[in-house]
Amino acid sequence: MSNNAVLIVGGGIGGLTLALALSKRSIPSLVLEQANQFREAGYGILLSPNVYKVFDALGLYSQMKAISSFPDQLVWIDEPNNIEYMKVPMGEEILNRFKYPYGSFHREDLLRVLLKECETNPYINLIKSARIIQVEQTSNGVTVFAEDGKSFEGPALIGCDGLWSVVRKSIMDDEKPRQSGHVTHRGFVKGDQLSNDVNKNSVIHWDRPNAHLVQYPVGNRGYFNIVAVYKSSKVHQFEDPAGDPNELEEKFKGARREIKELLGHVDTSRKWLLCDREPIAKWSKGRITLLGDAAHPTLPHLAQGAGMAIEDAFVLAQKMATISDYETAFKSYEQERYLRVAFVQYFSCLYGKMHDLDEVGRDLRNQLISNISLEEKYKWLGNVYKGLEV
Ligand SMILES: Cc1cc2nc3c(=O)[nH]c(=O)nc-3n(C[C@H](O)[C@H](O)[C@H](O)COP(=O)(O)OP(=O)(O)OC[C@H]3O[C@@H](n4cnc5c(N)ncnc54)[C@H](O)[C@@H]3O)c2cc1C
Repeated sequence: MSNNAVLIVGGGIGGLTLALALSKRSIPSLVLEQANQFREAGYGILLSPNVYKVFDALGLYSQMKAISSFPDQLVWIDEPNNIEYMKVPMGEEILNRFKYPYGSFHREDLLRVLLKECETNPYINLIKSARIIQVEQTSNGVTVFAEDGKSFEGPALIGCDGLWSVVRKSIMDDEKPRQSGHVTHRGFVKGDQLSNDVNKNSVIHWDRPNAHLVQYPVGNRGYFNIVAVYKSSKVHQFEDPAGDPNELEEKFKGARREIKELLGHVDTSRKWLLCDREPIAKWSKGRITLLGDAAHPTLPHLAQGAGMAIEDAFVLAQKMATISDYETAFKSYEQERYLRVAFVQYFSCLYGKMHDLDEVGRDLRNQLISNISLEEKYKWLGNVYKGLEV
């Protein structure tokens, strides 16, 4: 392993994909992960054709397809009024139009594939239990300091350390991530534990005033993912992860049987407070840059946060391989990425609001979206799904 390895702080989806993308271009890296294992939360994740396209470019396409499932349609329903205001066939239709599929994964399976590739790759060195707490940059390199007193040096540093990025903090002085006011509870269950009333092949959004529930099948092992989201009337602290089953129940009061059944499988002991940041155009300083949620945390309503981290990884590796000095390569990377990720950040925010509408807003949403032709809907999806020129 060359001691010229670039430092990657954070071994999540973004960090491991970056290490692999760099290795394809013969650039060695040292990945520093705070946890004592490289792992992902045990839930589902949706990834669209633009992401499979990057997997293909990295030689991972067949492995990723093997652990995916491919939902047959995307459906949005105004639940209290029983109006299906959007229905888009996915499956073969997406594959034909965008050359790559729309699929869902068990997050653990996805990370396992990335990890296995990294572990056997001579360009990649993985270090666990390395929680970075400090970053120092000089004119020739970067040093990061771990909580246990160890330090690591490299010619450049990429912060892939997520929403609460320590690397970001070392190069910019901005506020904490902003809360959207949404509280989320997740559920993960074997599909055979659900009744026949539950559609097990589609991605379905059940929209209610100030709340929605998303359901979809996951991966190749028969799992099913449930995300219940509501706009809370309370103030929530990041430090307190405990859920409030009463508030959840209140927001879904009177919901139909399938929703009640799915809510029975969400974990109310743990909540996620949805957060993002205002899009920015620059997230690099000298020999340090950021990737994924560290650079542009995004609300999950477009299901593209991980997708953007994976695209970032491909573009950044390309820039680092073709531009000899890090500062210029990082500037060129953020220049190429900022409008793409800002699009996803803004639309994710808008979609979050749109799913929770009530009264006039809800009726307008239902009418406007129902009146858009299917062809126009695919055209809109193409804004995201066509992805990078690889
Ligand atoms: C409810 C929900 C549903 C979602 N659904 C989707 C979806 O369907 N599709 C999609 O594309 N996206 C989805 N997302 C977004 C997606 O999960 C994130 O955008 C993605 O995980 C970001 O990846 P990342 O590698 O940038 O950061 P992270 O996944 O946060 O990884 C950061 C890594 O850095 C490590 N780390 C942090 N700090 C340090 C430190 N100081 N030192 C060392 N290591 C550190 C962490 O332990 C972690 O391993 C969803 C998000 C939520 C909340």
